[in-house]
Amino acid sequence: MLTLDIKITNLCNYRCEYCYGLNDSKSMDEEMFRKVLSIAEKLKFEAIEFCGGEPLVHPKFAQFTELAKKFKLILRTNGMLIEKHKEIISKYYTWVGVSLDGTAQINHIMRKANVNISAASQFNTPINNIKALKQLNPNINILLGSLVSQINYDSILELGDYIVKNKIPIDLWKLYLFRGKRERAKENENKFILSEKEFEKLHFNKIKTVLQKGSTNSGECFIVSPDGNIALGSTVIANINDSGNKIINAINTRIKKVLENKKTTYS
Ligand code: SF4
Repeated sequence: MLTLDIKITNLCNYRCEYCYGLNDSKSMDEEMFRKVLSIAEKLKFEAIEFCGGEPLVHPKFAQFTELAKKFKLILRTNGMLIEKHKEIISKYYTWVGVSLDGTAQINHIMRKANVNISAASQFNTPINNIKALKQLNPNINILLGSLVSQINYDSILELGDYIVKNKIPIDLWKLYLFRGKRERAKENENKFILSEKEFEKLHFNKIKTVLQKGSTNSGECFIVSPDGNIALGSTVIANINDSGNKIINAINTRIKKVLENKKTTYS
């Protein structure tokens, strides 16, 4: 599924120490968003992935969803703010990726929030939101994304056991190896780093599980940032204000690689 990731905002209600998102407060305005959708249509993208930052903090999340609804929609979220938008999400989104890095205590250690929040609430809110989405639309697909580092390596499979034991409706569990790409992830690399060899030993077969080692420069998908830069991972290949031909060439020459990656996740 040819997918265009759109970072509608770099803002987030979390402040994870392993985050490699750009540490600024830029958000995409509606004019830019419409331009991106028009390019996506011309290039025959099938799906739009809303990501960030935390896309649900964008004040126009609902309007942007309406504008993009002719595409298959995918949402990447930390799961804390779904409640307010659960109707629109369950109606229009095909996949919702929610991130949790362990059961309550270890997830709390891994994820720093911008406000005081208890470990229990930080765990139970996304879990309850996942259940609510599935209740509203049993056909929605839920991806549980977990970052694996040296901090949660020994306990990460307990999260899988929790999911199975409590019948949390997860369609795919994706484990990501920590990479100290840039920003806070780079600054805190020593705290999180885990070898590929250790990561590859993880095995869980009670639900569909995929290990994603990723690359050091996150070069697996097309991402449009709030200021209109189109990047393959962290390498900018064009800007949404460039000529149509420049954008089309920049994307077309790299499409095959991106398609292979997306197939692994949203098959
Ligand atoms: S990793 Fe995700 S949830 Fe955490 S600060 Fe970055 S964007 Fe927010």
